[in-house]
Amino acid sequence: MKFVSTRGHAEPLGFSQAVLQGLAPDGGLYVPSELMPQDFTGATTLREVAERLLAPFLEEDPLASSLQEMLAQAFTFDAPLVPTKDSKLQVLELFHGPTAAFKDFGARFLAQCVQRLGTSQARTVLVATSGDTGGAVASAFHGLPGVRVAILYPKGLVSPRQAHQLGAFGDNVRAFSVGGTFDDCQRVVKAAFADVALREKRPLVSANSISLARLLPQAAYYAHAALVHQRAHGEPLSVAVPSGNLGNGLACLLARAMGLPLGDVVLASNANRALVDSLAAGHLAAHPSIATLANAMDVGAPSNFERLTWLGPRRVTATAVDDETIRARVREGEARYGHVWCPHTACAVEAVERRRAQGDSHRWAVVATAHPAKFETVVEPLVGHPVPPPPALAEVLARPSESFPLEATLPALVEALDAWR
Ligand SMILES: *Cc1c(COP(=O)(O)O)cnc(C)c1O
Repeated sequence: MKFVSTRGHAEPLGFSQAVLQGLAPDGGLYVPSELMPQDFTGATTLREVAERLLAPFLEEDPLASSLQEMLAQAFTFDAPLVPTKDSKLQVLELFHGPTAAFKDFGARFLAQCVQRLGTSQARTVLVATSGDTGGAVASAFHGLPGVRVAILYPKGLVSPRQAHQLGAFGDNVRAFSVGGTFDDCQRVVKAAFADVALREKRPLVSANSISLARLLPQAAYYAHAALVHQRAHGEPLSVAVPSGNLGNGLACLLARAMGLPLGDVVLASNANRALVDSLAAGHLAAHPSIATLANAMDVGAPSNFERLTWLGPRRVTATAVDDETIRARVREGEARYGHVWCPHTACAVEAVERRRAQGDSHRWAVVATAHPAKFETVVEPLVGHPVPPPPALAEVLARPSESFPLEATLPALVEALDAWR
């Protein structure tokens, strides 16, 4: 299959080429040239569903024959749909991967792709992070031959646990603590991708949220959950997705557009209103981002919104949740639902309750994008007891950690990459 730009002025590319290209040359985002319903008869596990779902996108691509093996390496954990004390609310838990957030699925699939697209020259994966993306990418690429990962994060502006995690891998992964904000990190990374001479000398790969190799595999857990739900209840599953850059929410909408039994979709954002306002306006309405308790969604200009416009905003709504309400939802989580929510997941719970307050009586799934222990400084005081990290995360946090200071300029980054032997 070919992938075309949302802006329509770039040459269509196959999957691998589109992944290596990143942003299309016309400034748009690559999207599939067609979406076809698949037959999921007999597919029961997450990996089986993922293989059926992804096969048409990789057709005629150099990676097509590796799909099964890539999924076996990348999807080594499940995305279970688990009950709550509320019989009409389930949780799609996406935090059973090594860094305890949903980004493990996309990052690990991307790593399998990049590793298999190796050339004689080592590739450098370059990523700016405000927290979770960097950890998932670091973990996914750690130890893979022929690939290096440079992570730029704003010094002092990610949580201590996140900072520790970013520097805890070592080997082919290096964490740079940048003097500046997340926007400064992103500016330097963008400047590197725009520098043709630099890219010729040193092949760069983007691992940010617009990467097709992150987006497409995420549709698999929605497809799987929808099939499980339909087989049990004979109806489509409605879903509330905590959203920032909209990579996860868009994957859900893609799965539905491919014919999977998904019902209503609500995108739940924090106090950053960009998604709500963009959906109302029908075009991207960017705002400066503000810091909230659900910091992985502190996004002022959702980068995947252009793909939502392409897909058509049918049966999708958005709602914004402030910090006070996040606190209240986290506080009552155990008593009311039997779950401790992370601050992002709490936004999705609020979104469902708002729908119910308007008379909605569907069965819903809230998407748990991270384990609450990743945000222990927010969650523990609210629930009143320690929330221990899952074993894989605890193991990373127990390792020593090292980061490299970096000035927020392209020449400083180039020098740091050249000095890395
Ligand atoms: C990245 C992230 C989000 C936002 O996901 P998008 O794909 O950017 O919308 C939500 N919750 C957590 C825990 C995250 O790490």
